[in-house]
Amino acid sequence: MTDGSMNKSHAYIISSQDAAVRENTALELAQAMVCDRGGAEACGVCAQCRRALAGVHPDIIFIDRLTDDKGKRRREIYVDQIRGMSADVWVRPQQSDRKVYIIREANLLNQAAQNAALKILEEPPAYAVFILCVNSAEELLPTVRSRCVEIRESGTVCRAENKEAEELVDTAVSGDAAALCEYCWKCETLDSEKSAELIESCRAYLSGAICRGASSGVSRGEAVRLLGVFDIAAEYLRMNVGAKHVWGYISVSAI
Ligand SMILES: [Zn+2]
Repeated sequence: MTDGSMNKSHAYIISSQDAAVRENTALELAQAMVCDRGGAEACGVCAQCRRALAGVHPDIIFIDRLTDDKGKRRREIYVDQIRGMSADVWVRPQQSDRKVYIIREANLLNQAAQNAALKILEEPPAYAVFILCVNSAEELLPTVRSRCVEIRESGTVCRAENKEAEELVDTAVSGDAAALCEYCWKCETLDSEKSAELIESCRAYLSGAICRGASSGVSRGEAVRLLGVFDIAAEYLRMNVGAKHVWGYISVSAI
């Protein structure tokens, strides 16, 4: 359970009803990923950040609907575009250590395009990151969703829905392995349903932190990392892995 058998850290779904939130979150995540400082937040001053902010970073690539001969936007994102992306991804990044693809209207990927995307989401090169922006993750095929960490912006205030979730996240962020073990050990007494609720609250809290950045008290980079852990934990529960094992997984993975 502690190995990397489930690795989702290269693909993200940003779901929000608000297009500006989706766009900003995607750009800020991409910037943090190409930043030279490699910290939890983009530094905002290095050459990579400046290029990203100016919208001219060669390793941040947007996949959008094409326009037809008459300059009209096509209705879908076609499979050929995704095949193009899948070929391009094997060309190493030019200026940073990462190559980030942002699909701004991933809900407009038709079924063939989603199936093509699935192949590259399953086995991408280590430097590749994919960010899929949607109104709601339900707009994507379950197979695609299962390969991605979902950052769900609910539009509500960035507070954990319950105190426990906030405490659990804070303990993980503190880096105190013993404290986290103790916390997870207490959680092992929860049944699967209660565990799923708590993990869901942590995911909501972390999603809020990612969308709002530094103002949330948890850095964006930390929140992304932890969201990946809780996302996998939630999936284990859905696969009927016992709650005790899932808390064991969190205790060793969230530090
Ligand atoms: Zn930077």
